[in-house]
Amino acid sequence: MNFGKGEKLNHFLSKIFPLVRPVETSQAMNIEHKKLADKIHLLTFENQKDITSTFLRFQEHYESPNFRGKVFSLEEFKEWYIKNSPKGVASGDFTYYSDWNGFNIPSYILKPFYDDKFNPLSKQEKNFLDIFKDEGGAFYIIGVHKKSKIKDQLLKHEIAHGLFYTKDSYRLEVQQTLSQFDDIKNIKEELSLKAGYHEEVLEDEVHAYSIDFESNLKTPIPEKLSEELRKLYEKYS
Ligand SMILES: [Zn+2]
Repeated sequence: MNFGKGEKLNHFLSKIFPLVRPVETSQAMNIEHKKLADKIHLLTFENQKDITSTFLRFQEHYESPNFRGKVFSLEEFKEWYIKNSPKGVASGDFTYYSDWNGFNIPSYILKPFYDDKFNPLSKQEKNFLDIFKDEGGAFYIIGVHKKSKIKDQLLKHEIAHGLFYTKDSYRLEVQQTLSQFDDIKNIKEELSLKAGYHEEVLEDEVHAYSIDFESNLKTPIPEKLSEELRKLYEKYS
């Protein structure tokens, strides 16, 4: 997931993934669906409200510090998020729809949703599940939206998550690199305070934020770490 601020989409994708090919377009909300490489699916939404309201329960079932692995309603999540997220605490409002920009989940997260555990499903959630209903095997889903001012960085951040999950050799090399830097503890600590990340995904997030040129974190990320991880990213993407 990515907290980045919302510029232009350049030819980033065609540069990184010569294999990009459009698969289908969803009618209901205007979601573009592309397959990147063989196991990473990219959904591009029109705006931030569309993407955040669609991904919320899938993303938080995957990596919320409070709801990971649990079944919950939107209302339950809202109540918790207002009390635990920095902007929620400060304003008393539910700011999720303007807090987050990029999303990432492995396909196994969809299962309890297909199995009716999360009923009632919202229209957006049903639409989301429809996109992947005929997709077999394990894959990874990332999402970005067109209104983000830093869309290319956002995309890079989310693709990094996709590679980390789907390519074992990439993940191992990333982990080996991360283990050489003590300061990642502080980055993890800052990320924990955002109310968006479970401990289990912090390593993956530090990795993605280090590759991202617009990470927007207060804790400095060692330049050497970013350099080495960006090299790995280029090698594998
Ligand atoms: Zn992330």
